[in-house]
Amino acid sequence: MRQQLMLLRTLREAPAEAEAASHRLLLRGGYIRQTAAGIYSFLPLGHRVIRNMERIIREEMNEAGFDELLMPAMQPSELWEQSGRYSEYGPELIRLQDRHERGFVLGPTHEEVIASLVAAEAGSYRQLPLRLYQIQTKFRDERRPRYGLLRGREFLMKDAYSFDADWEGLDENYQAMVRAYHRIFDRCGLRFRAVEAEAGSIGGEGETLEFMALADIGEDTIVTCSSCDYAANLEKAVFLEAETGVRLRDSVPEPEEVYTPETRTIEEVCAFLGARPQAILKTMLYLVDGRPVAVVVRGDHEVNEFKLKNELGASRAELADAETVERLTGAPHGFAGPVGLGIPIMMDRAAAAVHEGIAGANRKDYHVRHLVLGRDYKADRIGDFRNASAGDRCCRCGQGLMFSRGIEVGHVFKLGTKYSRSLGATYTNKDGKEEWMIMGCYGIGVSRLMSAVAEQHGDDSGVVWPLSLAPFQVHVIPVSAKDEQQYGVAAKLYDKLRSKGIAVLLDDRDERPGVKFKDADLIGAPLRIIAGKSAAEGNVEWQNRLEGNPKEQIGIDEAVRRIG
Ligand code: ATP
Ligand code: MG
Ligand code: MG
Ligand code: MG
Repeated sequence: MRQQLMLLRTLREAPAEAEAASHRLLLRGGYIRQTAAGIYSFLPLGHRVIRNMERIIREEMNEAGFDELLMPAMQPSELWEQSGRYSEYGPELIRLQDRHERGFVLGPTHEEVIASLVAAEAGSYRQLPLRLYQIQTKFRDERRPRYGLLRGREFLMKDAYSFDADWEGLDENYQAMVRAYHRIFDRCGLRFRAVEAEAGSIGGEGETLEFMALADIGEDTIVTCSSCDYAANLEKAVFLEAETGVRLRDSVPEPEEVYTPETRTIEEVCAFLGARPQAILKTMLYLVDGRPVAVVVRGDHEVNEFKLKNELGASRAELADAETVERLTGAPHGFAGPVGLGIPIMMDRAAAAVHEGIAGANRKDYHVRHLVLGRDYKADRIGDFRNASAGDRCCRCGQGLMFSRGIEVGHVFKLGTKYSRSLGATYTNKDGKEEWMIMGCYGIGVSRLMSAVAEQHGDDSGVVWPLSLAPFQVHVIPVSAKDEQQYGVAAKLYDKLRSKGIAVLLDDRDERPGVKFKDADLIGAPLRIIAGKSAAEGNVEWQNRLEGNPKEQIGIDEAVRRIG
């Protein structure tokens, strides 16, 4: 592709509201443009990345024995009434009417459509298992669309569904999908973890795993064991009570032993509790005989910062500024600098603590005051006794747990018969008896995945895409497009690479070299070939950005050979 002819406009600055690094880079590089909140156009550059991801996904889904189909985005609301999700799904479901006042929804997912389709098309055990998938636009009216493609209201999803006659069959399909997802995300160059999860609004009876891209911007907290392979979403994680931890219910300190937040550091309080400092994201109110005795806010520095950031809608920069935090929380917090490390605070009269709302920090005199539980922290995390001992440990091996953040890029569920029952997906078994089909469903957020990869592979100057996803593998840049020799060498190289079927971009624009190189960084092709002064000798400069960009002078044929 010749750059001159492409709809490709890079931006020096990203709009201020673009918080996530990936969002900024995708806007600056000319990959995407916002059309409305949470609704994006993919410009040709971005579309190429999407196509590359789709190719990988299709290859792996086909390999796993799944057949591609395409179902409608607009779905009759009756189907959703049948499954019970028309009301259950809540305001995320976009509802509309046609000219005859018939109700429709814009599909946030396709369990209803596919279950009714399969119910009509297949009825015998001989037709099972059925394995189907599509890549389709989904609509969810998210409360807070943000971070660009990470949480959109219109987004691209690969969704797959399996229909089996028995649970063993479902298990096989489920495991095949787990393996396929590992391969897909590996091939996309993603660092990820598969974690145990909760089923959420989709319901279902069986297991479910989420595939989490590891990234600080992620909205989920994942819990991984430092020793064994246990990994779970925090919502689902099970903790072992630490033997060393003092269970607050049993052991209430005498008032004179109470450590006040102003004077104690995390080490001191942890020593008092017999616990190790842990990175935990929890706020709890401990009760003894129904009376509050302690407020505990735990979390590592970053987790707490992140949490407040989400819940207050503040940016990182704003959180570093005490006055802004005070303004956002509507109360003087009495601390400066970023929100500190959460720590158990023992109160002799917790009622007072609840009233005054005090949470701890990892530095003396850095404690948060006037914290309002339920406002500053979610109410559902209050009064949670599941985790009432300090020092969280793995439920499998008893070793310490680690906490980090992830972006949910994929999710596999064993649905069971929930949708086959409500939508009548039955089959007749060998004995002529009618049975419910057993379903599984498997999603990948394709557009979200693009952002997740950009989040992991980006720096300030641009995304360096893995070869498998790059919109162009090679960027050929004549330093001066007006210099005949330079342009000639570049054009020749461009033609040679193109004839080999390589995705190559030729910067044929009459621009200053500085502009071209900055743009090239943003466009993010992993291989860059520059035709400069040495073009006169038939040489070019070779840069492989995946290998840290060492610059090398080589001949044209050598460049072609290396790429081919
Ligand atoms: P989340 O917890 O992030 O809201 P979800 O659990 O509601 O996601 P699923 O119903 O499991 O999402 O959908 C399958 C996949 O679709 C998710 O794993 C995710 O990768 C992607 N996805 C879900 N919601 C969005 C969204 N608003 N924007 C982009 N991708 C999304
Ligand atoms: Mg959701
Ligand atoms: Mg989820
Ligand atoms: Mg999910």
